[in-house]
Amino acid sequence: MAAHQEKKPSEERRPKSTQNDTRTSQVQWGRAWEVDWFSLASILFLLMFAPLIVYYFIMSCDQYQCSLTDPLIDLLTGNKHLSDIWNKTPPLTYRAAGIYTLWVAFQVVLYVFVPDFCHKFLPGYVGGVQEGAVTPAGVVNKYEINGLQAWLITHALWFANAYYFHWFSPTIIFDNWIPLLWCANILGYAVSTFAMIKGYFFPTNAKDCKFTGNFFYDYMMGIEFNPRIGKWFDFKLFFNGRPGIVAWTLINLSYAAKQQELYGQVTNSMILVNVLQGIYVVDFFWNEAWYLKTIDICHDHFGWYLGWGDCVWLPYLYTLQGLYLVYHPVQLGTANAIGILILGLIGYYIFRTTNHQKDLFRRTNGNCRIWGKKPEYIECSYMSVDGTKYYSKLMTSGFWGWARHFNYTGDLMGSLAYCLTCGFEHILPYFYIVYMTILLTHRCVRDEHRCFGKYGKDWKRYTAAVPYRLLPGIF
Ligand code: NDP
Repeated sequence: MAAHQEKKPSEERRPKSTQNDTRTSQVQWGRAWEVDWFSLASILFLLMFAPLIVYYFIMSCDQYQCSLTDPLIDLLTGNKHLSDIWNKTPPLTYRAAGIYTLWVAFQVVLYVFVPDFCHKFLPGYVGGVQEGAVTPAGVVNKYEINGLQAWLITHALWFANAYYFHWFSPTIIFDNWIPLLWCANILGYAVSTFAMIKGYFFPTNAKDCKFTGNFFYDYMMGIEFNPRIGKWFDFKLFFNGRPGIVAWTLINLSYAAKQQELYGQVTNSMILVNVLQGIYVVDFFWNEAWYLKTIDICHDHFGWYLGWGDCVWLPYLYTLQGLYLVYHPVQLGTANAIGILILGLIGYYIFRTTNHQKDLFRRTNGNCRIWGKKPEYIECSYMSVDGTKYYSKLMTSGFWGWARHFNYTGDLMGSLAYCLTCGFEHILPYFYIVYMTILLTHRCVRDEHRCFGKYGKDWKRYTAAVPYRLLPGIF
């Protein structure tokens, strides 16, 4: 466990305000209680425009060969009206609704009814029942970690169908991409709305709920911390991982199949996208137990940001490179392909090693070796809602001594590699690196704000010891 509880939590150790006032004590760490105007404006912007942004990108590929500027030029010059574009947009179909329902239902079955078997025969893999981190209310949730198994079964069936059963075409996802977008939106909004209602009327753990009193903020950022149905159906773990991230590699495979169908071959750029993103996805599931200790699970509440984001934003915008390559089949020169592969692999190495170092350090409570040496760290403490004091450690050696978020740096290098596979003809495939740069930089700020709230002066000592965030000596 990352943090260990003080053996005798004493009343005297509690700040006065925390003794009877849960609300005050939760201000210490976790999601904000009060909403400033900037956060509110950003949230309103995202609620209104994020679905349009996704639609615009996908429509640009469907109707304008992935040009982001041509639709705008057409509209601004009066060459086309919004209704012309809308009328050419494929509607929701029964077929897409059937595919999507089956897909989500299948993932629910794999998640809820098939206990993990992989950890019994895969050496080094941590699966089965695992514990999450301590929540602000001092709860430690248990999770059934079986994502790798779900991914393997799903992909085995996909390949069995493609090469043996032929129940459906492997291009099925590409061929129904826009009708499926409507289905994903319906699920995304339904689950976010349900989570909001659940937070008010039947929360899983009332002490871990947060209400700002601002409807839009609560809808976007979530009220409940770990909403669940029954003992095991955890919304965050399911929606973060399953419909979106299991689908990620299938979507890329469907794009590759479409290239094969259209051009009689799969380009090396498409293979690179499939391989590099495939490594990222398999890594996610191989390390699903580690994921329980990341910000998404440890700190974010479940609202539209995660619910809609996992259903729509992730599967549609994280896969833009493969989609682009269906319309523009780029065949890279050998040197470029190797250069991109090396960049992607180095990025992945940094991402994985940094995450692994923290995981090992926290799991062993600092009793491990990082780069052959005992890790250096700063001792820190924090309080949970009930006033219990916990102790933790912040590592200052290994990659964590280079920068405070070097795992993000590795992630960004990998993200750039995906985009570079698409060449430089269009800007659309570069959306991912732009978005990840904004997301991860914002995440640095958000995480550090929260950590400061949690650890106070101990966090200041840490930032003095490791002064840079992403790039040593620069930022
Ligand atoms: P981290 O895994 O870096 O977790 C941050 C938390 O780790 C902090 O809140 C703190 O939590 C703890 N921590 C911070 N510094 C230290 C330290 N020096 N020693 C020990 N513990 C420390 O962040 P994320 O959860 O954001 O990211 C996890 C991975 O997921 C990253 O590699 C990121 O790149 C990737 N990611 C990918 C996204 C995508 O869309 N592709 C989106 C977001 C993340 P505590 O309270 O426990 O001390």
